[in-house]
Amino acid sequence: MIPVMNVQRQYASLQDELDAAALEVLHSGGYILGPKVQNFENEFASYCGAKYAVGVGNGTDALVIALLAAGIGEGDEVITTAMTFVSTAEAIAQVGATPVFVDITPETYTMDPSKLEAAFTSKTKAVIPVHIYGQAADMDEICRIAHSHNALVIEDCAQAAGAKYKGRRTCSLGDMACVSFFPTKNLGAAGDAGIIVTDSEDLYKAAMAFRVHGSGLNGAYTYARLNGQEFDESKVDFHGNLPKYYNYLVGFNSRLDALQAAMLSVKLPHLDDWNARRREIAAIYNEKITNTAFAKPVVADFNEHIFYVYPLRVNDRAKFRAYMEEKGIATGVYFPVPMHEQACFGKLGYKHGDFPVAEDLAEHGVTIPMFPELTDDEINQVIDAMNAYTE
Ligand SMILES: *Cc1c(COP(=O)(O)O)cnc(C)c1O
Repeated sequence: MIPVMNVQRQYASLQDELDAAALEVLHSGGYILGPKVQNFENEFASYCGAKYAVGVGNGTDALVIALLAAGIGEGDEVITTAMTFVSTAEAIAQVGATPVFVDITPETYTMDPSKLEAAFTSKTKAVIPVHIYGQAADMDEICRIAHSHNALVIEDCAQAAGAKYKGRRTCSLGDMACVSFFPTKNLGAAGDAGIIVTDSEDLYKAAMAFRVHGSGLNGAYTYARLNGQEFDESKVDFHGNLPKYYNYLVGFNSRLDALQAAMLSVKLPHLDDWNARRREIAAIYNEKITNTAFAKPVVADFNEHIFYVYPLRVNDRAKFRAYMEEKGIATGVYFPVPMHEQACFGKLGYKHGDFPVAEDLAEHGVTIPMFPELTDDEINQVIDAMNAYTE
């Protein structure tokens, strides 16, 4: 079976380096935060062209912590798209705010900026565009509209580490960005991991505090900021005890492990090459899949898409998937249920028909094998099968 994604081949290609880095951490005795994590945070921030990065437990926590850092909670609304992985909307609900959905564009599947203005209310505090499948949303438009309402823009970069928009890297385009290093993502750890990226010192300090139970100087500073108080560092007194035992905010235990940071530091220098190979495979698919049964992905002219997946639209998805399975080729669905139709968001009161583009994609969207280590032979097998398919 040709898989849709595969992580073993990437591990094999860097095995000596990854094994050595993992053993170094195991021997060091320092497993949580520490220099490996700081190194990776610095490397990733500079890769994105941003000032700060805060390593956390996973991409979902990154979103939750980013929202809390921005002071968002009960009574607030946050706008995101109806077509994303559940984490985006779940994080909004987890902090007590209300997710408000807008549709995606039929070409790029990212947030439709023309639908955004109408979704704002006096309660809107942030917008979370999702760079879905590896392609950036139209950030200039989204930031312009959001900032005109004094709302923050938090990029969901979980599927787009390294993608570019108008020549600039994702993760540096809004006020904050959240990345997942889930093993299959473009930059994947050997387990769960995530990061928050920002240029704002205030948001950075807040994220640093929230990932460690809201403690210490960053916690005290953030408490003052979120409550509109003056911060006087000289008045913070830990009485000679460890700052981590002084908690100013109700936070989390959500830290990046040294082991994961070490894996990510080995892999980051390869990310651009891997993404380039994904684009190359996409270009081959674009050119050689000539069967008109499929609508192929559209890349906005201002974007460098990094093809976390290669998304297609097909009329009879079940039939197509069964056909591919027969040919020994796996396919994927990202994602079968749009957010406004998820049972967990039922009480928000949306109904089928509210977001027709997202609904259409949920019903007809399908992905075919896409990862940098796909062989030319496998790519050709996929193309031959696709071209021989009849509706
Ligand atoms: C993977 C993903 C996340 C969540 O990341 P985890 O590390 O799995 O928590 C969030 N948003 C999107 C769009 C994703 O694809």
